[in-house]
Amino acid sequence: MTPTISKAIFVVLAIGWYLIRYEYARRSRRVTVVRSARGPREIALLLVSLAGLGLVPLVYVATEIPRFSAYNFNPSFAWLGLFFAIAALAMFHLTHRALGRNWSISLDVRENHQLVTDGIYRRVRHPMYSAFWLWAIAQALLLPNWIAGFAGLAGFGILFFGRVAREERMMLETFGDSYRAYMARTGRVFPSIL
Ligand code: SAH
Repeated sequence: MTPTISKAIFVVLAIGWYLIRYEYARRSRRVTVVRSARGPREIALLLVSLAGLGLVPLVYVATEIPRFSAYNFNPSFAWLGLFFAIAALAMFHLTHRALGRNWSISLDVRENHQLVTDGIYRRVRHPMYSAFWLWAIAQALLLPNWIAGFAGLAGFGILFFGRVAREERMMLETFGDSYRAYMARTGRVFPSIL
């Protein structure tokens, strides 16, 4: 394992994510949105997350900038990063497949929206956000730079904590008691230990 391979793994993670998402985004665009909690705040959260998980680390991969926050590469961290990157992509694939036409980049309820509570959604109610956390951890392990490595945890953390309660409120307003019961038997991003 070398610093170059480690950076290449991050780039493959980003491309893999894009390829998985592209296909589902194309399909769900055709489904009408009947209720939405989108707005300037949601757009700002998305941009912060995109910067932290994508823009900042990819600029670093291409240019080594910011140089002042670099630290010594550790191959064991990078191997662990590879493991988290594979787990992140697997979770992305499974969550997109399970959500299908109900997926949105923001907070939308679509026509005939189905509440998914099975498969990867059985024990965890935000497994796609779990996948983003795995990505952010992989990024911190793969890129030996305090800013570029940790930008993902910071950027996605802001999106996650700024969004998840509003998303759950929207789901409760839409699905009522079924979502309440679903909340009681699941954890947000990790199965709740009963
Ligand atoms: N928070 C989920 C989904 C992220 S995509 C996860 O992390 O896996 C965001 C969209 O998914 C929202 O617009 C919401 O309408 C929809 N959504 C969230 N949970 C859902 C569920 N259990 N079933 C169906 N749609 C869901």
